[in-house]
Amino acid sequence: MIQVAAPEQCSGCRLCALACSFYNTGEREFSLAAASIRIDRVRGENSFSPQVLEDCTGCGTCVPYCEYGVLAEA
Ligand code: SF4
Ligand code: SF4
Repeated sequence: MIQVAAPEQCSGCRLCALACSFYNTGEREFSLAAASIRIDRVRGENSFSPQVLEDCTGCGTCVPYCEYGVLAEA
């Protein structure tokens, strides 16, 4: 499992979600919709809310793609 350890550091870049979809869907395509992590902008704020979805396998692939230290392996 992975944890959203520091959500306040999220830049909204979505590299984590792109990496998840590329490596884990079997399609080798970038798809935010297919990712097991979702990044929503907090309404009315310049901040983001990363959410790990139920279908996350906990593979950890996305963790090193986050250069802001938001994600951590539990
Ligand atoms: S969790 Fe990290 S990689 Fe994912 S959108 Fe936020 S800053 Fe980018
Ligand atoms: S741990 Fe693996 S399955 Fe879960 S969001 Fe990250 S890359 Fe996707």
